[in-house]
Amino acid sequence: MPQLSRRTETFTDSVIRRMTRVSLKYGAVNLSQGFPDFEPPREILDRLAEVSREDFHQYSITWGAQNFREALAEKQSRLMGRTIDPNSEIVVTCGSTEAMMAAMMTIANPGDKVIVFSPFYENYGADAILSGAEPIYVPLYPPDFGFKADELEAAFRQKPKALILCNPSNPCGKVFTYEELKLIADLAAKYDTFVITDEVYEHIVYAPSKHVYFASLPGMWERTISCSSLSKTYSITGWRLGYIIAPPEIIDVARKVHDFLTVGAAAPLQEAAVTGLRFGDEYYADLAAKYTAKRNLFLKGLDDLHIAHTVPQGAYYILLDISEFGFESDLEFCEVLARDVGVGAVPGSSFFREPVNHLIRLHFAKRDETLYDALNRLEDLRKKIPVRR
Ligand code: GLN
Repeated sequence: MPQLSRRTETFTDSVIRRMTRVSLKYGAVNLSQGFPDFEPPREILDRLAEVSREDFHQYSITWGAQNFREALAEKQSRLMGRTIDPNSEIVVTCGSTEAMMAAMMTIANPGDKVIVFSPFYENYGADAILSGAEPIYVPLYPPDFGFKADELEAAFRQKPKALILCNPSNPCGKVFTYEELKLIADLAAKYDTFVITDEVYEHIVYAPSKHVYFASLPGMWERTISCSSLSKTYSITGWRLGYIIAPPEIIDVARKVHDFLTVGAAAPLQEAAVTGLRFGDEYYADLAAKYTAKRNLFLKGLDDLHIAHTVPQGAYYILLDISEFGFESDLEFCEVLARDVGVGAVPGSSFFREPVNHLIRLHFAKRDETLYDALNRLEDLRKKIPVRR
């Protein structure tokens, strides 16, 4: 057989997605890959049923259906504090996954550097490599996962093309404060760097933390490529609807990349999702309240089991400390956890640049009964997983 592409040699398939398959194999409660097991809003589903009988079965405009872009522009203009032009400042993509990949390909030449905070969402490493860029990692320090200004500036001195900002952050649950974002903004301006955001958890934030859109900081609109999606906000991860919002010169290029990668997101799903984009503010308040209750339920359950864990300010992930079990491989721990305890988790090493193997990630975007089922199973954790010395 001829040689396959060298481009993919330095990364594996996604461990997050792999852990979903492991959970299925063992019949474990799957708290690994972050997606809900409850229904999307009824109004969106009702509209989907109607749409199936209407005229939405052919390609939409490659950068997104007009109706969808208009509804999105209206919603995000309200939130981001500036008027977003649906005709020149938006590309609709197949999930934020495509948005991030297209953003990287829009800005990076082979050999360019991009700053990535560690821990980071798994995709960014592969995105950088596939687009020919080289990540420079800057650590975030627990418990609040703040960065050190001098370490960040040292990374900027290496003349990166962009910084990738996941806010609220997966997997550590950090919500960056205005002051932290301002510091990043000042460095981005000083070193003339783009900022690519991943803001898919923008509506899943726990009081008193607040989400600040990076593009809304003074002077940042021009250099920010804002990526997000409808997946988490409307519980429709399988619909693969995401988007990029940026100034027209950047969108012009991103549209080309998107056009040749995927042509476009699914037309009937865009039309049905417009219903969600037109929800009023109370929908987002209810969503945050629902996730706050789930977070509290799950954290209390973990506290009762005396397992040390992070407390997220946003998003729906928790990192658990498994040091006491003495495993050398967190991947093996997760396999044993799924098989013997019946709970699916993601090994922490998938998210860290540093050699971390004492953490696992669980998520709580599940019905309360699913969370109670997982907590019941975790009660036997110490009985079923013997300590290794
Ligand atoms: N963001 C989710 C997670 O971290 C899953 C995303 C995905 O698998 N595309 O688990």
